[in-house]
Amino acid sequence: MDEKEAKEKSKEQLDQLFDKIKSMLPSEAEFVKAEFEGPDIVIYLKNAKAVYQDDAIVRSIASAIKKKLIIRSDESHLMEPEKAKEMITSLVPVEAIIANIKFMPKFSEVYIEAMKPGLVIGKGGSTLKNISMQTGWCPKVLRTPTMSSDTITGVRQLMFNEEDFRKKFLTNVGRQINRVITKSEWVKATALGGYREVGRSSLLLETPNSKVIVDCGISPEPAVRGSEANQNSDINRAFPYLDSANLSINELDAVIVTHSHMDHMGFIPYLFKFGYDGPVYCTPPTRDMMALLLKDYVKLVQRSGGVPLYDEKDVRKLLMHTITREYGEVTNITDEIKLTYHNAGHILGSGTVHLHVGEGLYNIVHTGDMKYGFTRLLDPASTKYPRIDALFIESTYGGSGDISPNRHDAERQLMDIIKRVIQNGGKVLIPLFAVGRSQELQLVLESYMGNEGPYKLDVPIFLDGMILDASAIHTAYPEYLKEGLRNRILNNRSPFENEIFEVIRGERAELMEKGPAIILASGGMMNGGASVDYFRMLAEDPKNAIIFVGFNSANSLGRRLQNGLKEVVLPDEDGKLVPVKVNLQIYTVDGFSGHSDRRQLINFVENIRPKPKMVFTMHGEESKCEDLARSLGRIMHIDARAPMNLDTIRLK
Ligand SMILES: [Zn+2]
Repeated sequence: MDEKEAKEKSKEQLDQLFDKIKSMLPSEAEFVKAEFEGPDIVIYLKNAKAVYQDDAIVRSIASAIKKKLIIRSDESHLMEPEKAKEMITSLVPVEAIIANIKFMPKFSEVYIEAMKPGLVIGKGGSTLKNISMQTGWCPKVLRTPTMSSDTITGVRQLMFNEEDFRKKFLTNVGRQINRVITKSEWVKATALGGYREVGRSSLLLETPNSKVIVDCGISPEPAVRGSEANQNSDINRAFPYLDSANLSINELDAVIVTHSHMDHMGFIPYLFKFGYDGPVYCTPPTRDMMALLLKDYVKLVQRSGGVPLYDEKDVRKLLMHTITREYGEVTNITDEIKLTYHNAGHILGSGTVHLHVGEGLYNIVHTGDMKYGFTRLLDPASTKYPRIDALFIESTYGGSGDISPNRHDAERQLMDIIKRVIQNGGKVLIPLFAVGRSQELQLVLESYMGNEGPYKLDVPIFLDGMILDASAIHTAYPEYLKEGLRNRILNNRSPFENEIFEVIRGERAELMEKGPAIILASGGMMNGGASVDYFRMLAEDPKNAIIFVGFNSANSLGRRLQNGLKEVVLPDEDGKLVPVKVNLQIYTVDGFSGHSDRRQLINFVENIRPKPKMVFTMHGEESKCEDLARSLGRIMHIDARAPMNLDTIRLK
């Protein structure tokens, strides 16, 4: 089939599809037009009420066409925004505390931001239904975070400002997804980064008709150049092998993001800088966290005198091209590939990715980073999938010795160290990834120190770096959190807002003059960020302590401190390099990781349903990827391998 034929065939099929939809609508609905909007189909009607009254109509059409169907009123039948605003305010109970009502005429949508979205939705969606019946506008509900977040405000504003662009972009993506293609007969995967290593995660999946990438990260080390925090970083190992895979950026159908850590998504703005203009799929919290982390990365590199890979403009481009999906929503991302996210338990919004290729041709589960165990923040990773042929699994702690202590013991150990250091008049620094571990640690400290008991220490807990905004984003998405925590946030008792936490904005040196304190600072592996700054100020006093609770990659300053580094050269507040003697106490407390330990990884594979036919290990140092693959092969009697970067595997 040549291109012209393919186009004609596509058009023909689409006309048939739209005719089918039309024929299933009641005639009084008065069909105006049907359009693609990303993976969804939107129907515009003169009398949408006729359909709103009967939910069964939409359900039966959607199941007949196997696509998500959105019903909207035609432009000419929308109530004037000012009037609609009044109407909405009168329909929604005041207790919902509406913060904002904004209209997107291009989408016939009205966005209602409220403290209590449940009250805007109403019982079984009754209030929403009422709003659409009365105003014609299609209501969308957003939650006001209980803590203010510049990131959320910024991302939401960007989506409104770029309404015209978004409409055009989504229409184009929809056409691309729904182009008619010949049946694919093979599926192959190419490891582009993060195989037998941690960092620059990326996997390319190809069929004769589709090319999609799962994750596209950078290695964490080269984030800040010029300081000894990164003396061993190797620029050649920083980015995925996109250029070696014979891949032209314009051929990519989609980029899928598992979660918002830099080693999984830090390279995506660079794709946009070089002309990618396709969709980026992620969950809504992942989109917002990406905005926070990528902007911070650009700032951090600029401040340290380096040249970032891309600038804020490219980050904005990425955000404008996102298509968000909740867990469990099945989405056609090409004519033959369906994507579904499931909970990965790693950080807020993190997803395992299920890809269904062809009609039953092949099924892949990619875990991204995953926690199959207890945390205070999230439920453990999901193990139920419709079908699985190949499983790609992370191996961060896949080595035979990587058994972490149980969580209760780990918490006690941490609190004992903190108590001892504080009682001796020292300060405790805990370097953390702003997203994930910080919130987990906040929950632990709040639980022990916010309540009566042997660990109720009367010292401040300072938060520095991006932690505050990251915690605020958590309060906008309580439905992604564990039930108990979700309820506390919904009832305005968010642990993140406990008064034991104090936020630091810029006066770090002054803090040093004050007495004992606990400092949670972003910059988990100490490759830059607030944690390095504090470390420089705290390092020479043996009364102080630094406690590592997360993963440190091989060349990071964090790892070198764990290995007994005695002196280090670091930039001071003016950027001048100064030698720093390391006299403070150094501790590592295992058990808080957002990654599964070895036992949890094996349990996950044992419990995952259905049983995969093949397993590929990734996201772990070489020995761990190999060890885990060997063990899984033996225990599960399956074909388990540890691919190398640039390996291409024919899956089908
Ligand atoms: Zn991660």
